[in-house]
Amino acid sequence: MERDQRVGDNHALLYASELSHNYNLPLQVFYFYPNSFRFRTARYELFLLKGLAEVDWRLKQLNIPFHFIRGSLEDEVVNFAQAEKLGCAVVDFSPLKEKREWRLKVSQALSRLNVSLVEVDAHNIVPCWTASDKQEYSARTIRSKLYRHLNEFARELPPISVQAANLYEKVKKKDSINWIEIIESASMDQTVAEVTWALPGEAAAMEALEDFLLKINPRVCYYAGKKNDPNAKVISNLSPYFNFGMLSPLRSLLVAQGAAHLKGRENINAFIEESFVRRELSDNFCYYNHNYDNINGAPSWAQATLRAHQDDKRVKLYSKNQLEKGKTYDDLWNASQLQLVYDGKLHGFLRMYWAKKILEWTTCATEALSIAIYLNDKYNLDGNDPNGYVGCMWSICGVHDQGWKERPVFGKIRYMNYKGCQRKFDVRQFVEQYPEAVEECKNAGGKSCVS
Ligand SMILES: Cc1cc2nc3c(=O)[nH]c(=O)nc-3n(C[C@H](O)[C@H](O)[C@H](O)COP(=O)(O)OP(=O)(O)OC[C@H]3O[C@@H](n4cnc5c(N)ncnc54)[C@H](O)[C@@H]3O)c2cc1C
Repeated sequence: MERDQRVGDNHALLYASELSHNYNLPLQVFYFYPNSFRFRTARYELFLLKGLAEVDWRLKQLNIPFHFIRGSLEDEVVNFAQAEKLGCAVVDFSPLKEKREWRLKVSQALSRLNVSLVEVDAHNIVPCWTASDKQEYSARTIRSKLYRHLNEFARELPPISVQAANLYEKVKKKDSINWIEIIESASMDQTVAEVTWALPGEAAAMEALEDFLLKINPRVCYYAGKKNDPNAKVISNLSPYFNFGMLSPLRSLLVAQGAAHLKGRENINAFIEESFVRRELSDNFCYYNHNYDNINGAPSWAQATLRAHQDDKRVKLYSKNQLEKGKTYDDLWNASQLQLVYDGKLHGFLRMYWAKKILEWTTCATEALSIAIYLNDKYNLDGNDPNGYVGCMWSICGVHDQGWKERPVFGKIRYMNYKGCQRKFDVRQFVEQYPEAVEECKNAGGKSCVS
């Protein structure tokens, strides 16, 4: 278990459980805790570890041992496989480079022991390689491919059955995992604190889904009309649950489809477009484009236009440190950066404005992209995910977009400005929540909409 940290609606776990049943061999779950996360923030680590503690507890109810392993991945896998006389390993899927490398190394290590590794996509409703066999141009081109397979994959999965006592006896562990000790001993960057709006784990994820879709007059009833208004607070807040695999996208789709007649077809369709089509498009991009995190992954028209405008004079240049601290002349940008830092989640509409401004204020697209990805992944609880790479690449490098009217710095990359935001929502209401953003804007010589 790596990307999909849940027991319910988990295709990979279900497949492993079926294998165990068919071959009358015991089933165990193994999570490898890497030493090399890019950001070991308290925000990210605690969400992860507490979520895994719940997985451990759920698996216990099913007589399935859970192993939390640290150290060198290949050594540990080999030791585990030998000690447990492993018959077969099943792993979930991620399109990200580092994660794919892990899977490759594990598969090579296991193949030396004659143990096969099966990869099951438990993250996409339509498995990434089934949806398309190539990098898709845009949402328009992948949408019909995804929908073509929907009937086949949008189906209830059976629950994982309790492991038979005779099999459980063979693999039963003497000691339980001491999660408190693990959490207390983990070294974490405490400057990036836990969030309060999202509790970790599978139960909290289901509650968040129901809160968004099912309760009386839920937020989804306003989704289509208000999802781009950061003051309206109508979006689902489900991204961390999807990204840590605590919530199955399939479950989300089935609940949404079931609620369509009550909550308005237009709202449900808009939510399905984001949580199914756009999300699976991100996996498609990262799976088929090795350069998903750098400018070489951009379409050729975008690379050409960015190169042609590389030397354009910038109105203002800011360093990574100034940007991280929200010290620009733009109060909306500063407020967005503070929302990211304090709340661990920047509103979706503002993410686009935020990233595009980084392009405007840095020396080149390569620098802009690297800063945007750094800030995105360090502070957003839903960071370190294909959606983040694609969001930054869309904003700065034209991925999944088209060329627009040419202008300085941006070239043909779609432009966004402050006035455009004012037309979309009450900028002042948003900025007022962050007095520091106003102060820094004035310190940097800007004029704030809040006097
Ligand atoms: C610069 C930039 C950076 C981004 N970084 C991330 C990131 O690190 N992690 C992340 O999950 N999303 C990222 N996004 C996409 C999107 O902004 C977030 O998924 C969304 O804001 C999360 O909030 P929500 O769950 O309340 O969204 P909702 O509007 O309720 O959407 C439901 C779900 O649909 C998916 N979704 C929504 N918008 C998009 C999109 N544009 N592309 C792909 N999937 C989408 C997400 O899984 C989301 O949880 C980024 C977008 C941009 C422009």
